[in-house]
Amino acid sequence: MKSFDQLGLSEPILKAIKEMGFETPSDIQEKAIPQIIDGERDFIGLAQTGTGKTAAFGLPLLDRIDPDDPATQALILAPTRELGRQIAEQLNKFSKYQKRVNVLAVYGGAAISQQIRALRKPQHVIIATPGRLIDLIQRKSVNLEELDLLVLDEADEMLTMGFKDEIDKILSYAPDTKKTWLFSATMSNDIRKIVNTYMTKPIEVKINAKQKVNTDIEHQFAIVRGTDKTEALTRFLDAEPEMRAVVFCRTKRDTQQLADDLFRKKYKADALHGDLSQRIRDRVMARFKNNDVQILIATDVAARGIDVNDLTHVFHFALPDDLEYYTHRSGRTGRAGKKGTSISFIGGREKYKIDRLQKQLDIYFQKVLVPTADDIYEQRIEGWCHQVVDREAANTLSPKLLRKALTLFGELSKEELIEKILLHELEKFSYDGSGRDLNETFKKPTREERMRNRGGGSGYNRSGNRDGRRRKRSYGDSSGNRSKGGGRRRRDRKE
Ligand code: ADP
Ligand code: MG
Repeated sequence: MKSFDQLGLSEPILKAIKEMGFETPSDIQEKAIPQIIDGERDFIGLAQTGTGKTAAFGLPLLDRIDPDDPATQALILAPTRELGRQIAEQLNKFSKYQKRVNVLAVYGGAAISQQIRALRKPQHVIIATPGRLIDLIQRKSVNLEELDLLVLDEADEMLTMGFKDEIDKILSYAPDTKKTWLFSATMSNDIRKIVNTYMTKPIEVKINAKQKVNTDIEHQFAIVRGTDKTEALTRFLDAEPEMRAVVFCRTKRDTQQLADDLFRKKYKADALHGDLSQRIRDRVMARFKNNDVQILIATDVAARGIDVNDLTHVFHFALPDDLEYYTHRSGRTGRAGKKGTSISFIGGREKYKIDRLQKQLDIYFQKVLVPTADDIYEQRIEGWCHQVVDREAANTLSPKLLRKALTLFGELSKEELIEKILLHELEKFSYDGSGRDLNETFKKPTREERMRNRGGGSGYNRSGNRDGRRRKRSYGDSSGNRSKGGGRRRRDRKE
């Protein structure tokens, strides 16, 4: 393994990255930097997300800039405004000790007038999203005639997002003498086409992914409208009442909102996020560990430190932007040799995210359907039948009672008897809901208790007393009320 000072980087750059805590180069940095720092060849760097590709092109790029030449010498294309900003931030840190190198990020969704103003000053390096850049070129705010270097960062992502035409157009504005560096997590046919059309005899470096996702985890996805996600989640929960799950949301607000919604629907759910005090977080975790909380709703950050081993499911209420997070999240299930299921809720237009995860993580995703009321009904009855068959009687029926029952049922065939019992059982599911121990009857929490529970994440009423309501709700679905948002609203009112 090489060290950073063997890669040909200048002193100011080495000083800056040392300050940033970069000790040794990553694989892609070690392979890419010496090739491109003063090379004249085009370059393709393929390495997984999180492997340090920004520095792999950013450090040699900065060392190639001539600060005394006011022309735009390097252009970095990035798929999103967030990525563009991140790259700019990193480059600014890398160039901290260099003679002044100006770096500017321009992207859509922000006022173009400010960007135009900034572009009146010399900008040695421009980082841009494709659409906005074309706009700025056409307004003559960006001039690429002196361009020495074009970097396509996250090329796979840009093509997935449909920027093919924009990339073609931008490449046509840049001079033939420029060098092109393409960085991507994956290589696809579309990227090959770009490479073949616009790059000349590129050097290609590929770093193989070492990390593999646990094979005890089954990866699934369901396509659900955003507004239906909460209901979809409750369907999965209803279908498997024994599940212990962590549900990942993107923001603290979503996390709290979902926990509140589930709590209102009588699920044993609670939230874990950074706005809660440590004391409350500890309490939530304790309740989750002893099963008073069955479904933990968490942000990625809050879930980082938690240690729970017997999760049956992980839900991705929204997919994370970073695929490493997907691995971390789903890795919370399927532990200690047990099987686990990781279910992602995606919108109709987000299938590409699944395709990407499949490719980049080398795992297979199975499409599943949100259980319908009939499915839930079926699974529940199946569960009930198993319980009956497997039941070890705690006390025996008196012979007199048994004889009496036999006389009363005597007329019925086995089929008729089972049918009647099942119907009876289903009625229980639908109406009082409790097919089990009735000693604990449903008690609606007082307003005060509800407030306390919601605020602090505690309260005994959240645990034992909610099954009845839960079943009632799920069989509310079986009455044919399966319309989407409207159905949910109606049911909410009923509760
Ligand atoms: P990629 O573009 O490959 O997904 P990034 O360039 O965004 O990855 O880098 C991921 C993270 O790793 C960043 O926070 C970056 O600062 C850090 N990083 C990159 N290279 C190194 C290094 N050699 N040592 C320590 N941290 C690094
Ligand atoms: Mg990157």
